[in-house]
Amino acid sequence: MKRLALLALLVVFVSFGCSQQPAQESKTEDAKPSGVTYVTIGTGGVTGVYYPTGGAISRVVNQKSAEYGIKATVESTGGSVYNINAVLAGDLEFGVAQSDRQYQAYNGEAEWADRGPQKKLRAVFSVHPESITLIASAESGIKGVEDLKGKIVNIGNPGSGQLQNSKDVLEAADLTEEDIKAEYAKAVEAPGLLQDERIDAFFYTVGHPNGNIKEATSGRIKVMIVPIVGPSVDKLVNKYSYYAKSVIAISNYPTAVNDSDVESVGVKATFVTSEDVAEDVVYAITKEVFENFDEFKKLHPAYSVLTKESMLQGLSAPIHKGALKYYKEAGLDQYIKPELMM
Ligand code: GLU
Repeated sequence: MKRLALLALLVVFVSFGCSQQPAQESKTEDAKPSGVTYVTIGTGGVTGVYYPTGGAISRVVNQKSAEYGIKATVESTGGSVYNINAVLAGDLEFGVAQSDRQYQAYNGEAEWADRGPQKKLRAVFSVHPESITLIASAESGIKGVEDLKGKIVNIGNPGSGQLQNSKDVLEAADLTEEDIKAEYAKAVEAPGLLQDERIDAFFYTVGHPNGNIKEATSGRIKVMIVPIVGPSVDKLVNKYSYYAKSVIAISNYPTAVNDSDVESVGVKATFVTSEDVAEDVVYAITKEVFENFDEFKKLHPAYSVLTKESMLQGLSAPIHKGALKYYKEAGLDQYIKPELMM
């Protein structure tokens, strides 16, 4: 028995030792005296599009690890707000965040209202479009936002991008969190909760297609993607510059009960960093994404609409100087709003 315990301890010790980066690192350091800079990209839940986006960005930059001495890794997180705060605190070097959340952080609104404008936030580029996606069980009878009254609705975890979007959409329909039974679970848990009939509906601001909505629409319970439309939604889009009308292609989710594409409201996924992150690191990542654009675009179906020009739109924090250096070299700075080039 004692021997077994000792053996188990040894196994744990050895495998723990092997997983330590510094031990592996020393080899690389011998070969490259300057060492390797590790950067971490904050993403979202594993069934969303941010997680593979972090994977796609790290893939293109890690192909040139030997040249740049940069190794990017990806972390699954609670989403946009978490990522922005972690980047600002220096806990993460990069994060994926919704364009509306980038705007709010830089201007000191929503979750940042108490702390004021987050002037160290920097934009690198934007990625795929995201739609505020409302998913409901067919049985709940929810056909529009106004039907959410009295229902159990997951509006998003604190730290997510969607939490504020859900509140805005509810407010536009003259509803508050008090009018529904609000849940605050992570998006990754929502399809299971819906299929187990523990919630009637959930909000998720996300690019399409994605595994989360596939999971939600392909279970035992019949599910509908609920349109977010009407005069109140028009007002919402007119009020906030970061919201635009969007359409969710139903061909992505053939087992949903909808028979046509679903109108909604959208934002953009963006890639952000802090003023404090080194210029050469941001330059290298930006350059590798743009110089391998065709390869990058193939890494997720939500990127099918991307153009280099579109990746410079939807930003509201100043462009990081490392990224700007690349855009100037590549002649892409013509697509950037002048006020973001400081
Ligand atoms: N938009 C979501 C958020 O900011 C994440 C979506 C995703 O992971 O693809 O929390």
